[in-house]
Amino acid sequence: MKLDHLGVAVRSLDEAIGAYQALGLAVVHREVVESDGVEIAFLPFDGGRFELLEPTGEASPVARFIERRGPGLHHVAVAVSDIRQSLGDLKARGLRVIDNEPRPGANGSMVAFVHPASTGGVLLELVQPGEHVGE
Ligand code: ZN
Repeated sequence: MKLDHLGVAVRSLDEAIGAYQALGLAVVHREVVESDGVEIAFLPFDGGRFELLEPTGEASPVARFIERRGPGLHHVAVAVSDIRQSLGDLKARGLRVIDNEPRPGANGSMVAFVHPASTGGVLLELVQPGEHVGE
Protein backbone atom coordinates (compact mmCIF):
# COMPACT_ATOMS: atom_id res chain seq x y z
CA MET A 1 0.00 0.00 0.00
CA LYS A 2 1.35 3.37 -1.01
CA LEU A 3 0.00 6.90 -0.73
CA ASP A 4 -1.63 7.94 -4.01
CA HIS A 5 -3.21 11.27 -3.13
CA LEU A 6 -4.86 13.48 -0.53
CA GLY A 7 -8.36 14.63 -1.54
CA VAL A 8 -9.15 18.20 -0.53
CA ALA A 9 -12.69 19.58 -0.84
CA VAL A 10 -12.70 23.17 -2.09
CA ARG A 11 -15.41 25.68 -2.98
CA SER A 12 -13.52 27.05 -5.98
CA LEU A 13 -11.02 24.99 -7.93
CA ASP A 14 -9.48 28.07 -9.55
CA GLU A 15 -8.93 29.83 -6.21
CA ALA A 16 -7.52 26.70 -4.58
CA ILE A 17 -5.22 26.02 -7.53
CA GLY A 18 -3.87 29.55 -7.16
CA ALA A 19 -3.07 28.91 -3.50
CA TYR A 20 -1.39 25.56 -4.17
CA GLN A 21 0.58 27.05 -7.06
CA ALA A 22 1.88 29.61 -4.60
CA LEU A 23 3.30 26.61 -2.68
CA GLY A 24 5.24 25.72 -5.82
CA LEU A 25 2.95 22.95 -7.08
CA ALA A 26 1.60 22.63 -10.62
CA VAL A 27 -1.59 21.14 -12.07
CA VAL A 28 -0.85 18.09 -14.23
CA HIS A 29 -4.41 16.91 -14.81
CA ARG A 30 -7.88 18.40 -14.60
CA GLU A 31 -11.13 16.55 -15.21
CA VAL A 32 -14.85 16.55 -14.51
CA VAL A 33 -15.85 13.24 -12.89
CA GLU A 34 -19.58 13.18 -13.56
CA SER A 35 -20.22 10.05 -11.48
CA ASP A 36 -18.87 11.79 -8.35
CA GLY A 37 -20.28 15.25 -9.10
CA VAL A 38 -16.87 16.91 -8.96
CA GLU A 39 -14.29 18.69 -11.03
CA ILE A 40 -10.82 17.67 -9.90
CA ALA A 41 -7.26 18.85 -10.34
CA PHE A 42 -4.14 16.83 -9.50
CA LEU A 43 -1.01 18.59 -8.21
CA PRO A 44 1.90 16.20 -7.56
CA PHE A 45 4.41 16.58 -4.75
CA ASP A 46 7.29 14.36 -3.69
CA GLY A 47 5.67 11.09 -2.67
CA GLY A 48 2.07 11.82 -3.62
CA ARG A 49 -0.43 14.25 -5.10
CA PHE A 50 -3.11 16.62 -3.94
CA GLU A 51 -6.51 16.05 -5.54
CA LEU A 52 -8.53 19.25 -5.26
CA LEU A 53 -12.28 18.60 -5.58
CA GLU A 54 -14.86 21.23 -6.44
CA PRO A 55 -18.49 20.08 -6.43
CA THR A 56 -20.29 20.52 -9.77
CA GLY A 57 -23.75 20.73 -8.16
CA GLU A 58 -25.60 20.76 -4.86
CA ALA A 59 -26.33 17.03 -5.03
CA SER A 60 -22.61 16.23 -5.06
CA PRO A 61 -21.39 14.36 -1.95
CA VAL A 62 -18.52 16.87 -1.83
CA ALA A 63 -21.03 19.75 -1.75
CA ARG A 64 -22.74 18.11 1.24
CA PHE A 65 -19.33 17.60 2.90
CA ILE A 66 -18.45 21.29 2.51
CA GLU A 67 -21.89 22.29 3.79
CA ARG A 68 -21.46 20.20 6.94
CA ARG A 69 -17.75 20.67 7.70
CA GLY A 70 -16.44 23.41 5.44
CA PRO A 71 -13.63 22.96 2.93
CA GLY A 72 -10.70 20.76 3.92
CA LEU A 73 -9.23 17.28 3.87
CA HIS A 74 -11.91 14.99 2.40
CA HIS A 75 -10.17 11.64 1.87
CA VAL A 76 -6.87 9.80 1.79
CA ALA A 77 -6.20 7.59 -1.23
CA VAL A 78 -3.84 4.65 -1.34
CA ALA A 79 -2.69 2.90 -4.51
CA VAL A 80 -3.21 -0.84 -4.77
CA SER A 81 -2.18 -3.13 -7.60
CA ASP A 82 -5.36 -5.25 -7.63
CA ILE A 83 -8.34 -3.28 -6.37
CA ARG A 84 -10.79 -6.17 -6.67
CA GLN A 85 -8.53 -8.29 -4.49
CA SER A 86 -7.92 -5.50 -1.93
CA LEU A 87 -11.61 -4.66 -1.68
CA GLY A 88 -12.47 -8.34 -1.21
CA ASP A 89 -9.84 -8.68 1.53
CA LEU A 90 -11.16 -5.64 3.41
CA LYS A 91 -14.73 -6.92 3.22
CA ALA A 92 -13.62 -10.37 4.37
CA ARG A 93 -12.01 -8.72 7.42
CA GLY A 94 -15.30 -7.03 8.23
CA LEU A 95 -14.53 -3.47 7.16
CA ARG A 96 -17.49 -1.43 6.01
CA VAL A 97 -17.15 -0.33 2.40
CA ILE A 98 -19.06 2.31 0.47
CA ASP A 99 -18.44 0.75 -2.94
CA ASN A 100 -19.07 -2.98 -3.09
CA GLU A 101 -17.50 -3.10 -6.54
CA PRO A 102 -14.63 -1.00 -7.97
CA ARG A 103 -15.85 1.78 -10.27
CA PRO A 104 -14.21 4.16 -12.75
CA GLY A 105 -12.41 7.13 -11.15
CA ALA A 106 -10.35 10.01 -12.50
CA ASN A 107 -7.69 9.60 -15.16
CA GLY A 108 -8.63 6.06 -16.19
CA SER A 109 -8.27 4.64 -12.67
CA MET A 110 -10.55 2.24 -10.81
CA VAL A 111 -11.58 3.31 -7.30
CA ALA A 112 -13.53 2.14 -4.26
CA PHE A 113 -14.20 3.93 -0.99
CA VAL A 114 -14.00 2.46 2.51
CA HIS A 115 -16.38 3.89 5.11
CA PRO A 116 -14.82 6.22 7.74
CA ALA A 117 -16.57 4.17 10.44
CA SER A 118 -14.02 1.42 9.71
CA THR A 119 -10.91 3.59 9.42
CA GLY A 120 -10.82 5.87 12.45
CA GLY A 121 -12.95 8.55 10.87
CA VAL A 122 -10.94 8.88 7.66
CA LEU A 123 -12.62 8.33 4.32
CA LEU A 124 -10.21 5.96 2.58
CA GLU A 125 -10.08 5.56 -1.19
CA LEU A 126 -8.47 2.56 -2.86
CA VAL A 127 -7.06 3.42 -6.29
CA GLN A 128 -5.85 1.12 -8.99
CA PRO A 129 -4.09 3.57 -11.29
CA GLY A 130 -5.07 3.61 -14.95
CA GLU A 131 -2.89 3.56 -18.03
CA HIS A 132 -2.14 7.26 -17.86
CA VAL A 133 -0.13 7.36 -14.63
CA GLY A 134 2.00 10.48 -14.43
CA GLU A 135 0.02 12.26 -17.13
ZN1 ZN B 1 -9.52 10.78 -4.62
